[in-house]
Amino acid sequence: MIDKFTITKPDDWHVHLRDSQMLDVVVLDTVKQFARAVVMPNLQIPVITTEMAIAYRERILNSIEKLKSENRIEVGNIFEPLMTIYLQDSTPSEEVLRAKKSGVVFAFKLYPASSTTNSQHGVVDLLGNCSELLENLQKVGMPLLVHSEVSDRRVDIFDRERVFIDRVMVILRKISKFKNSILSIFLTKEGVDFVLDDDNSPIAATITPQHLIYNRNDIFFGGLNPHLYCLPILKKEEDRIALLNAATSGNKKFFLGTDSAPHDKSFKENACSCAGCYNASHAMSLYASIFDSVGRLDNLELFASFNGPDFYNLPRNKELLTLYKEDNIVPNELTSNDIKIIPLSAGKILKWLYVAVFDFNLF
Ligand SMILES: [Zn+2]
Repeated sequence: MIDKFTITKPDDWHVHLRDSQMLDVVVLDTVKQFARAVVMPNLQIPVITTEMAIAYRERILNSIEKLKSENRIEVGNIFEPLMTIYLQDSTPSEEVLRAKKSGVVFAFKLYPASSTTNSQHGVVDLLGNCSELLENLQKVGMPLLVHSEVSDRRVDIFDRERVFIDRVMVILRKISKFKNSILSIFLTKEGVDFVLDDDNSPIAATITPQHLIYNRNDIFFGGLNPHLYCLPILKKEEDRIALLNAATSGNKKFFLGTDSAPHDKSFKENACSCAGCYNASHAMSLYASIFDSVGRLDNLELFASFNGPDFYNLPRNKELLTLYKEDNIVPNELTSNDIKIIPLSAGKILKWLYVAVFDFNLF
């Protein structure tokens, strides 16, 4: 019986580290489990230029240095934030060249306008207004990350990904020159099928733990549950099953992206609840428990540690992460000074535990 499982240290290809006080609270969880993370740019004041991405990276690195000086993480802990720029209709195409030259910007992120948290400044017409910028991305080989949902209010919220695939992704795939990576957050069966449809396309998808564990019924089960309200929203059971099969299959086009997106409890348990699940505190425990539940622990390392860097032609990490088979309860609440966060699956028992996962409360 396996009671311990060691894998190459994973990367998180989609995380929201937030800013200011929240940054100091949440960066610790990500840094302990992941060697690299793609940091999303949708701050309250979005990261829309290379200069802003460099400044945000500095704030993240300062926060890590502070944690090291306080002995909350080991001095030798290696973590590389992969910075992104929030794409707008008005983003000059030369910004791509500046971003490339900086050496610290990893990708541009497309948020269709008003599709999720702080996306009101996002893109209205990608193919109409950003074609030159897309060309420059191809020239310099920089990835385009995509929040794959239309924000058209006439489209049912549960259909937004499917419609986005028809309206945008199909065209992006057809732009034959577009050889560089397009990473999408796909969370429906149609999204999985779209990725699988063409093995040679430059399109891959990240999958969150919340979409692997829950379906949309869970948002409403026993009363409205704001802690399962995230965007892209949870989908049908058949979508969850398709995602579970894709994630645990080992297929190189699917890899780990937590989309961990914390909000203070007061903003979640609110008449106008914010969208986002916080899972970074126990992400690898969640993923390991999910993979084990379908007997596919053997593919966890591919999903968490290999498929991502292989897709981007980056080196695989050298460090390791050990998981233990040990029942553990996800805390009901995580607290740090004035911030309270309700983690994903709060109060539930997980079968796997990564080391030091719950020392969040030691803050
Ligand atoms: Zn996100």
